[in-house]
Amino acid sequence: MSGNVSVIVIGGGIVGLSTAMRILQSRPAARVLLVEKESHIARHQTGHNSGVLHSGLYYKPGSLKALNCRSGYSQMLEFCREESIPHEVCGKLVVATTDAELPRLDELHRRGVANGLAGLRLLSPEEIREIEPYCRGLGGLFVPQAGIVDYTAVAARYAEKLIEMGAEIVCGERIVDICPKGSRVEVIGESRTWSGDAVVACAGLQSDRLALKTDSSLPLRILPFRGEYYQLKSSAPKLVNHLIYPLPDPAFPFLGVHFTRMIGGGVECGPNAVFAFGREAYQKTDFNLRDTCDALLWPGFRKVAAKHWRSGLGEYHRSFSKRKFVEALQQLIPEIQACHLDDGGAGIRAQASSCQGDLLDDFDFRINRRVIHVCNAPSPAATASLSIGQTIAEKVLPLLC
Ligand SMILES: Cc1cc2nc3c(=O)[nH]c(=O)nc-3n(C[C@H](O)[C@H](O)[C@H](O)COP(=O)(O)OP(=O)(O)OC[C@H]3O[C@@H](n4cnc5c(N)ncnc54)[C@H](O)[C@@H]3O)c2cc1C
Repeated sequence: MSGNVSVIVIGGGIVGLSTAMRILQSRPAARVLLVEKESHIARHQTGHNSGVLHSGLYYKPGSLKALNCRSGYSQMLEFCREESIPHEVCGKLVVATTDAELPRLDELHRRGVANGLAGLRLLSPEEIREIEPYCRGLGGLFVPQAGIVDYTAVAARYAEKLIEMGAEIVCGERIVDICPKGSRVEVIGESRTWSGDAVVACAGLQSDRLALKTDSSLPLRILPFRGEYYQLKSSAPKLVNHLIYPLPDPAFPFLGVHFTRMIGGGVECGPNAVFAFGREAYQKTDFNLRDTCDALLWPGFRKVAAKHWRSGLGEYHRSFSKRKFVEALQQLIPEIQACHLDDGGAGIRAQASSCQGDLLDDFDFRINRRVIHVCNAPSPAATASLSIGQTIAEKVLPLLC
């Protein structure tokens, strides 16, 4: 696309694609260009996640996560129905396995109600077994709204719709600079340059690097956390009917190792959460010097490490010891054994950290003149993508000439 581009979206993950789609749905005459550095869309977080339709249970009422997840969940279900994308609202069980966790289960129930979830049910140990015969817990919370879907398929459909609406998607072009110039913004790629009325950067694991191009005092950085999975063998007993989760650790923004039925069949077990020595370091032994140095030099990283070293060591232990991983899974399903599990894949979470060493919990969108940066869009951003796209589109439209 050359000439007068209205909006340039950087990043072909589910957030960039939904944002471009929502902009065009609100302003069909806009000329929208989406630029992705990989040869295909959805190569990073969008293509490596658990495929859960999150209901909005966990999030602080009134936060961007709570608002966008609740509204995005309904929009996602409607989208999947309209576009015939396979999905299933199978429900999820959150399980307390120690006495100390029981008050937190009650608190989670209250939070879910505050977030507008109907039909949540607190369960006794016997009621847990009626729903999940192999699962053991002292108390449970059943969340009927939770479901499963393939977000790569959703992203592919967003891309098809974008093209039908007249957008252009350019893959294989990494953006290296963003330069606001008066009423226009120049977006400079490795081999081409474009100019638009407005720019939205949805760069996931690289989002802070693009945000630094327009704000050198950006007060956060992305820390990459790898989540590794096992898969239940098809020959293993049928140990899981729904989604089975532990109670999350309130000090940590990740949900703990859990069991997830996949929409294409099979059950994923995990993920853990280890600091990754590279933003795209999908293998345990992958190492990227620049990414690692950037993290180590960020004061927030050292504070995160000081706060969470004990749980971090436990996660590393699980990463290298299948026996330890299985022990974590056995907290929920005591019958599960190492011989039931095959190695699975891994995904890397883009988790923003402040200079003070806080792991940012909420979504973070920043506007700098005519450029909007999505700086923190961790889970449930795939579920919430249509709502996030709408929220950002509303910020972009007033910037268009
Ligand atoms: C292990 C794991 C499990 C998860 N499970 C769930 C779940 O069950 N449910 C849920 O709702 N969410 C889940 N999430 C979160 C969800 O996957 C992400 O929040 C979501 O995919 C973020 O989308 P995104 O578009 O922001 O990022 P991404 O999908 O990472 O896309 C960013 C894109 O920007 C591109 N890019 C980066 N820099 C540049 C550049 N300079 N120039 C051009 N392009 C660039 C990248 O190549 C990439 O394609 C999970 C995430 C992980 C990692």
